[in-house]
Amino acid sequence: MATMEKIFAGYNARQEVLNASTNPYTNGIAWVQGELTPLHEAKIPMLDEGFMRSDLTYDVPSVWDGRFFRLDDHITRLEESCAKLRLKLPLPREEVKKILVDMVAKTGIRDAFVELIVTRGLKSVRGNKLEDMTNNLYLLVQPYVWVMEPEDQPTGGSAVVARTVRRVPPGAIDPTVKNLQWGDLVRGLFEANDRGATYPFLTDGDSNITEGSGFNILLVKDGVIYTPDRGVLQGITRKSVFDAAKAAGIEVRVEHIPTDLLYQADEVFMSTTAGGIMPITTLDGAPVADGKVGPITKKIWDGYWAMHYDSAYSFEIKY
Ligand code: PLP
Repeated sequence: MATMEKIFAGYNARQEVLNASTNPYTNGIAWVQGELTPLHEAKIPMLDEGFMRSDLTYDVPSVWDGRFFRLDDHITRLEESCAKLRLKLPLPREEVKKILVDMVAKTGIRDAFVELIVTRGLKSVRGNKLEDMTNNLYLLVQPYVWVMEPEDQPTGGSAVVARTVRRVPPGAIDPTVKNLQWGDLVRGLFEANDRGATYPFLTDGDSNITEGSGFNILLVKDGVIYTPDRGVLQGITRKSVFDAAKAAGIEVRVEHIPTDLLYQADEVFMSTTAGGIMPITTLDGAPVADGKVGPITKKIWDGYWAMHYDSAYSFEIKY
């Protein structure tokens, strides 16, 4: 995978520069109530309902090689999540974008994990009127986070279909609202670990695959990419998979995915902003097909990273 080597070599070289940096924000920066602090010194008000009841939504865009990737898509999803929870993004979109760009520039970080969190604020929904509540915004920028480390991506990771926990049903917590109610996903992570794997795939409790601990799930069968239509976050990385597939002439079907189809798959991969396209080559302790990263996964991987340098999807940050 020549492209993969090139992408990771570039990343490693930039990491070396970052590691040698004396910038006080090298490990990250936080924006809390208009104040910037080094990330690891940032404090939040304890009585914020975001902390007390996870009454919040959030989003995670990324910066790759000094370019913000699909930032508007992430802010649009954040605004939609806010609307569903009767929250309001406290600042206009353009101002949020300006602050984020400024934060990234201040850190000098060229590959970043960026997080925006909108919380209910200090007044709870119980006993207060919506119009009397002031929502809070928290922003942070830190070095890029890998759900699957670069060194594992050429050979792929191991997943299990969780048996001890199901994904919370959409009628309880709407998975299209990006949320931090991770009770089911944390249980899944423990189960994966107990079973000698890294990644839990959760079902909907009715034998269909949903998603995992911070990633969407996709599989390839007879040249077609399949991914679940419900019970999942509408991932922006998955959207990039759709775009890369379209450009490569690969059909994508978004529909119910019975667990059985996963077991018959020719290829399996996961998608998330924190790591990109992550191949799964072991499922429930057995190899997926021949146990190697498949050709369609490779094509999507290449297409995904190429998009990071395409001005239709990304823009350059002036450091
Ligand atoms: N599903 C869940 C539960 C997630 O938490 C995430 C990302 O954190 C994803 C899917 C992938 O979303 P995206 O591609 O927008 O990062």
